[in-house]
Amino acid sequence: MYNAFLKINRKEAGYRPVLERIADFGEVEQTLNQEDRMLQASRCMDCGVPFCHWACPLGNLMPEWQDASSKGKWKEAYDILSATNNFPEFTGRVCPALCEKSCVLMLSEQQPVTIRENEAAIVEHAFLEGYIKPHPPVIRTGKKIAVIGSGPAGLAAADMLNRKGHAVTVFEKDESPGGLLRFGIPDFKLNKEVIDRRLKILKEEGVIFQCGIEAGKNSGTAALLSGFDAVCLATGAGKARDMNVEGRSSKGIYFALEFLQQQNRIIAGKAIPASKTISAKGKHVLVIGGGDTGSDCVGTSIRQKAVKVTQIEILSQPPIGTNPETPWPAYPYVLKTSSSHQEGCTRLWNLSTKRFISKNGKLTGVEVEEVEWEKGSDGRMKMKETGKIEIIKADLVFLSMGFVHPVHEGLLDDLGVDYDDRGNVSSTNSNQSSIHKVFVAGDVTSGASLVVRAISSGRKAAKAIDLFLKH
Ligand SMILES: Cc1cc2nc3c(=O)[nH]c(=O)nc-3n(C[C@H](O)[C@H](O)[C@H](O)COP(=O)(O)OP(=O)(O)OC[C@H]3O[C@@H](n4cnc5c(N)ncnc54)[C@H](O)[C@@H]3O)c2cc1C
Ligand code: SF4
Repeated sequence: MYNAFLKINRKEAGYRPVLERIADFGEVEQTLNQEDRMLQASRCMDCGVPFCHWACPLGNLMPEWQDASSKGKWKEAYDILSATNNFPEFTGRVCPALCEKSCVLMLSEQQPVTIRENEAAIVEHAFLEGYIKPHPPVIRTGKKIAVIGSGPAGLAAADMLNRKGHAVTVFEKDESPGGLLRFGIPDFKLNKEVIDRRLKILKEEGVIFQCGIEAGKNSGTAALLSGFDAVCLATGAGKARDMNVEGRSSKGIYFALEFLQQQNRIIAGKAIPASKTISAKGKHVLVIGGGDTGSDCVGTSIRQKAVKVTQIEILSQPPIGTNPETPWPAYPYVLKTSSSHQEGCTRLWNLSTKRFISKNGKLTGVEVEEVEWEKGSDGRMKMKETGKIEIIKADLVFLSMGFVHPVHEGLLDDLGVDYDDRGNVSSTNSNQSSIHKVFVAGDVTSGASLVVRAISSGRKAAKAIDLFLKH
């Protein structure tokens, strides 16, 4: 009988207390004890049509692993979970849990099963008990594959192709593998030892990592095509959206990733010269862009001891709680309040940035104008400026308005791949680019997205490459 949900409420592990967590960069999320975790897993109703499974881009088999973990069968739970997800330790920490928004208990009770946390608990249990061991392939095929980029898409593709017995080399331009998992997502959301632990297994299984190599620059594009039987491009969507307004060249304005990557590197022990250090200490910080990357800048600025942190967004504030325009089981467009927001940040909506104001070359504030959004006759939302101007005091600004598409200059242009109308690398249903034997995975073809989608795309590209190599 799957009726535990009638007696047991959803219980989240929650975050460490604010005053404790803002004093360090350790992970903010806590863990439940094993007994509570098993009770949480037992809340799954084993629905005939599991919408959580439908909503997860990986097609994770939640009812099956909830059942196993609720009975303490952790090995079985991990075996089911790892059949569809190469890296549950990443998604278990940073996934926005599309699945939970589609859980039937979300519809009826607004209390979905704690799927993401349960996922993290299963994989952590598996590591602790030593269930996750290197399994190098027994037979090697003699085929060589280059994976370019070591984010979640590249890592998933490399893992799947190596399991098939192909010789996989991952090229990464940064000094260490991980992509945005390592140099983007703050350590307080994802401890980097979690990445290193997985990389150790992949290396012991035979995947070769060559870091500090920018494909197309340090290793020629022609050599890449002639030296490998197939290439998988997983280079991400690195072109940040900029803002062309008066004063943009003032000192003190940075792209969000410049700031976040630097903090990741400082935590990894890298010395940053004083002239290059971006510090929020003692500053009035303004984050432009109301999304998740902006929220990461908020949490990082607070930990660096900013005086005040404000985050502005040009769109209107989303509805709180539920939104009839995005009904279950769709992902709801509602207000999200992250752990970083809870740490002390002013959030403002309907503000358009007009100009950056500086004194003696130093940023002092940002002029913003209030806007309104109205539905036009074509059904699309149209922005109207109200003329109400305000100046927000700021001596440090982070531009966090998303990413437009992958960086074209260099490898992609050299290869001559086709782009779609949004500037992403276009691909067929089987992840093939317009160039023979060159495949694509992750943000480079989807545009900036999510870790779970990147892993799913990497798995799909690997399947297509394996099939290509067999013919
Ligand atoms: C600040 C931030 C926070 C985020 N937080 C979350 C979150 O909490 N949850 C979530 O699900 N998603 C989050 N995302 C989105 C998520 O990180 C990405 O969707 C995901 O990492 C994309 O994976 P990928 O493998 O396609 O690309 P990436 O992770 O971008 O990796 C691409 C890699 O390719 C390398 N590369 C590029 N060009 C070359 C070249 N020529 N040669 C060699 N290497 C090259 C890059 O250095 C990089 O390491 C966040 C994104 C950002 C920016
Ligand atoms: S990967 Fe994300 S969507 Fe899929 S089961 Fe895990 S938390 Fe849910």
